[in-house]
Order: sequence, then C-alpha cells, then structure tokens
Amino acid sequence: MSTVVLQRLSMLSLTVKQLGSLPCLSTSLPTLPSLPSLPTPKPTVSASDVPSLFREPYILSGYRPMGQAWKCYFLSTFQWHNELMNVWTHLLAAPVLLLRCWALLSGNGRTLLDVSALPLALYLLSTLTYLACSVAAHLLQSHSELAHYSLFFLDYVGVAVYQYGCALAHYFYCSDAAWRDIGVGAVFLPGAALLAWLSCTCCCFAKAHYRRPYPLRRKICQLIPTSLAFLLDVSPVVHRLVTGNWEQDSALPFHAGQVAFFLLAAFFFSHPFPECFLSGHCDIIGHAHQVFHLFLVLCTMCQLEALFKDFVAQREVILEVHGEGLIAGAGVSFFVLVLCCLATAVWMHRTVQKQLKMRQP
Ligand SMILES: [Zn+2]
Repeated sequence: MSTVVLQRLSMLSLTVKQLGSLPCLSTSLPTLPSLPSLPTPKPTVSASDVPSLFREPYILSGYRPMGQAWKCYFLSTFQWHNELMNVWTHLLAAPVLLLRCWALLSGNGRTLLDVSALPLALYLLSTLTYLACSVAAHLLQSHSELAHYSLFFLDYVGVAVYQYGCALAHYFYCSDAAWRDIGVGAVFLPGAALLAWLSCTCCCFAKAHYRRPYPLRRKICQLIPTSLAFLLDVSPVVHRLVTGNWEQDSALPFHAGQVAFFLLAAFFFSHPFPECFLSGHCDIIGHAHQVFHLFLVLCTMCQLEALFKDFVAQREVILEVHGEGLIAGAGVSFFVLVLCCLATAVWMHRTVQKQLKMRQP
C-alpha cells in the first residue's frame, strides 16, 4: 500500500517538475515575491558584556546585547533571556484578567453602561495599562541606554495609573460609612491622585539620578511615596477587614488575599531573594523580580474578585451615596493623572537624552 502511494507521489513530483520546466509556463506564471526573512536575535551575553546600567545584582548571564534592531527585541519574546519570565508573567495576565472580568459580568447579567460602573471600568483600564507598560519595559529596554530609561519611566507611569485605579475602586465600592466619617474620606481622592503622581515622579527621578552601585537614598526616594500611596489606597479595605463581619461578607477573604499578595510582592520587589543565595542560578527562571510579578498578578486577581463582589453588593446605592457628579469628576481626574504622569515621563526622557548626549565623546 505504502509502495503504491510513494510511486504515485514520485510521479506527481515528476509531473510538477516537467510543468515548471516548460518555457511557456515558466515565463507566464507569476513568481511569488520572496518573504523578507525575520532577523534573529543575537545570543545572550554575560553581565560583564553589558553596561552597568543593565546589570542586576546576582544575575550573571542571560543579558540581551544592546544595539540590535527593534524587531530583535520583539522577537526575543520567544528567546531564553533573563527578562523572559518578567515579560510572560504580565503578558499572560492581561487576557486572563479580561476573560475573568467577562465571565463575572456575563455571570451577573450586567453591563457597564451605568455611571456607577465607571470606577470598575477605570480600574480595569489601569490594570491593563500597568501590565502593558511593564511588558514593553521588560521586552524592549535592552535596545539602548535611552530606551532603558524611557521605558522604565513608562513602567512607573503604569504603576501610578494602577495605584489611582485601585484607589477609585476602593473608595466607591469598598469603603463603608464609618471609614468615610473618620475624615480620611474627605482627602482620600485628591491625596491618592497626588501620591500616585509623586510615586511616578520620585521613581523616575531616582532612576535617572542615581548610578550603580545604587545608594540607599535611591530606594528611600522610590519606596516612601509608593508606600504612602499604598497605605492610603488600601485604608478603606483595611478598615473593612478589621471591622467587617467575615461570615457575612464574602468579599473580605479576597480583600485579605489582595493585601497579603501585595505585601509578598513588595518583599520580593525590595529584596533580591533567592538569587542573593544562589548567584547565577536564578538568571533565567526564579529571580526576585519574577516572583514580584507573580505576586502582583495574584494580588490583582484577588482584587478583581473582591471589587466585583463589592460592586454587585453596592450597586443600587453607589449613586445615592456618592452622587453622579463625584463619580464623573473622579473619572476626569483619572485621565488628568494619566496626562500628568505622561508629561513627567516625557520631561524625564528629555533630561536623560540631554545627559546621554553630553556623555558622548
Ligand atoms: Zn517589572
């Protein structure tokens, strides 16, 4: 049976070859344009082969060389290097979050056409923003020193936008009257917007100003506004966790989850663990920044579940409690914050560009 098939295939191949050799056909048949070949990313190099700006403590290998075509960095999504997991953790999180949100919405038979759902929509937009900015930064930063700085400025914009998206959702869906009455409620939204912008600005400044080996001042400059923003943004949730009824309030375990995962993420963000004990063994998989990404995604997943439960529970009274004007105003403030953060990042990009030009021989 297989011999017969092989014979027929060889006859067919011969016939095709004969047809192609006929002068009338070879001249009249249009030739297919040859496809442009994709560039191949260069092999990764060790830490000593890249400028100190790109080196991470205890990560000894897996660095992508600078100066390749942009396409090579996009294609490095499928190459083994020390940023690969940082890219994929956030790249996969975006569709997972969207699918979960779609399932939650369709499960409740509700649409996002009401003003009361605006904070939820802005929260979702903020999560997608931080995930997209992070993917862009980790995937493309090795192109040049200017790209490294500029893309991490963009990453900080994403973090600030996410902070404010969380603050809006926490305020409108998760806060209870007792928390709003203690006075924090009155300054919460302007305070959250200011601290989000300060976080972005201080992180950009610290990134641009300090050189390796980084002094402690750099960490302080980054952590103080970011920690203050977190403490303020999470305060309505913490109040609920402390005073709420855990047997009746099904959102509380998810809120506890988002706080716990965030604290774990913060630990791995600020400590190079486990690579400080396993130098060179966690270069591709297992270093602290990847673990930080994973816990941040888990925090976001828990947060989405909790927010959605609170949104469904509070929906009938959200407009009555807060008023349509305040919700619409908060929506406008979200986009003002995005513009302020972007303007800061562009200004810092220009400052670094000038510094790098001055350093050139
Ligand atoms: Zn990251």
